[in-house]
Amino acid sequence: ELTLENYLAWMQDFAQKIADKKDYLSDLDSKIGDGDHGNNMARGLKAVSEALATKPADLTSALKVTAMALISKVGGAAGPLYGTAFLEMAKLSSKTVDLSELITAAAAGLQKRGGAQAGDKTMVDVWLPVRDNLKNSQLTSEKIEQAVNSTKQMEAKKGRASYLGERSVGHLDPGAVSSGYLFESMLQTGV
Ligand code: ADP
Ligand code: MG
Ligand code: MG
Repeated sequence: ELTLENYLAWMQDFAQKIADKKDYLSDLDSKIGDGDHGNNMARGLKAVSEALATKPADLTSALKVTAMALISKVGGAAGPLYGTAFLEMAKLSSKTVDLSELITAAAAGLQKRGGAQAGDKTMVDVWLPVRDNLKNSQLTSEKIEQAVNSTKQMEAKKGRASYLGERSVGHLDPGAVSSGYLFESMLQTGV
């Protein structure tokens, strides 16, 4: 179950991870994209931290301000996609705070917005297995890592990396890696 308290702890941990891995994420993006994913995410998560520091009244408003900060500050392809995911969670959170249901709604929003399917070498390749494993309460750190690593062998079909075609094979997808951090933080903060 997601609560305001564990959600704030989750986002604080995620923001720290992104700050720590900023250069690594941008390096990954420079291999198959334009090299800005770490900077985009670090800028966005700094805005999220600032927004959450103003003490939102409840979980729904916390999710909503997160979405708004991501949409307005991350930019690029990832900003609207992450933003949509959190916005979908915000919308559903007035009905249920079940983590599995929230992530299912978020993943659906992500796919609707970006049109990516499993195997297209995007963050969706982490969100879908996380969604499925949460459903059976089988999510582990190893499963997350596996999902992230599975993007290495894929040929990109969406986003900038798709311009490279076959040359995108052999590199991790940066958005999958940042999503991996999101879910590692989720596990580590006991959400
Ligand atoms: P940009 O590519 O605009 O510079 P970022 O570098 O911040 O944006 O984000 C790139 C990441 O966004 C990719 O690694 C991928 O995971 C994700 N992405 C791009 N397009 C899509 C899409 N259509 N659906 C899902 N994820 C996508
Ligand atoms: Mg980029
Ligand atoms: Mg860019």
